[in-house]
Amino acid sequence: MEEAIIADQLTFAYDQLTAVDHVDFKVKEGEILSFLGPNGAGKTTTVKMLTGQLRPKEGKAVLLGMDVVQETERVQAQIGVCFEDPNLYEQMSAEENLNLFAKLFGVKDFDAAALLVRVGLDGRGKDRVETYSKGLKQRLMVARSLVNRPRILFLDEPTEGLDPVSSETIRNVILEERERGATVFLTTHDMVEADKLSDRVAFIDHGEIVALDTPHNLKQLYGKRAIKAEVARADGRLEIKEIILDNPETAEAIQELFTQEQVVTIHSEEATLEDIFIRITGRGLAG
Ligand code: ATP
Repeated sequence: MEEAIIADQLTFAYDQLTAVDHVDFKVKEGEILSFLGPNGAGKTTTVKMLTGQLRPKEGKAVLLGMDVVQETERVQAQIGVCFEDPNLYEQMSAEENLNLFAKLFGVKDFDAAALLVRVGLDGRGKDRVETYSKGLKQRLMVARSLVNRPRILFLDEPTEGLDPVSSETIRNVILEERERGATVFLTTHDMVEADKLSDRVAFIDHGEIVALDTPHNLKQLYGKRAIKAEVARADGRLEIKEIILDNPETAEAIQELFTQEQVVTIHSEEATLEDIFIRITGRGLAG
């Protein structure tokens, strides 16, 4: 399979501040890669370099075999981009916004209504965008990024601060796009979203990738698996017991739990991506 995205030592600095520091990674065609990191980690700056909006200070980005700086327009014709801040024409309807984009991209046989159905905006297509809520605007932004049937889709924090229905709609569209064969580059600081959607996740912190693997492998490598049991004490109160799996003493501990305790509930636990992020970087995803 061809590499859809190659980031080769990508670096960017705002004056003295190095926002992205010699970042290397590759994304295969049809893959969903998420950049997971707290505010200010360098996610948006990376997306801007990948999509030709910022020129790297060092290194380069190659999309579908084309150098982004040298062939910006050809690259941009093949990609869809959705940023956090809505930049829609508020006075125009949703359909007009989409049709305008289709015209700019020279897309023939464009069906705005069908695209609006996909993002759950059917019935609202003729309404002016200024009447939309934040979630509806974001769904329209996602729709707009799909107008040119992009081979690579860049979504910068697409569900940030949205209601659950809008978030779920957007996640479903992302999965459908992968089904269609598109490559997806997603940034988020939502570990559940990264876990659910991504084939691989890159942890980004202070402009550097500190880990990159499948969610499963990250959990295997850095996480600890455990079972948690609620046991009833003699006075009737419940106590929580945790047994770490993958220890030499695990089998004995489990046997002891069942022979010597009155087990009320039991469930297995695995590390979350946030647990692992904290373990690697010493800080959480919230800020
Ligand atoms: P967020 O989730 O807040 O969007 P992020 O991971 O996308 O965070 P970036 O927006 O890429 O992070 O920012 C990386 C660093 O660069 C931060 O320290 C930020 O303050 C700084 N930065 C971003 N844009 C500018 C700018 N235009 N001028 C100066 N510094 C900037």
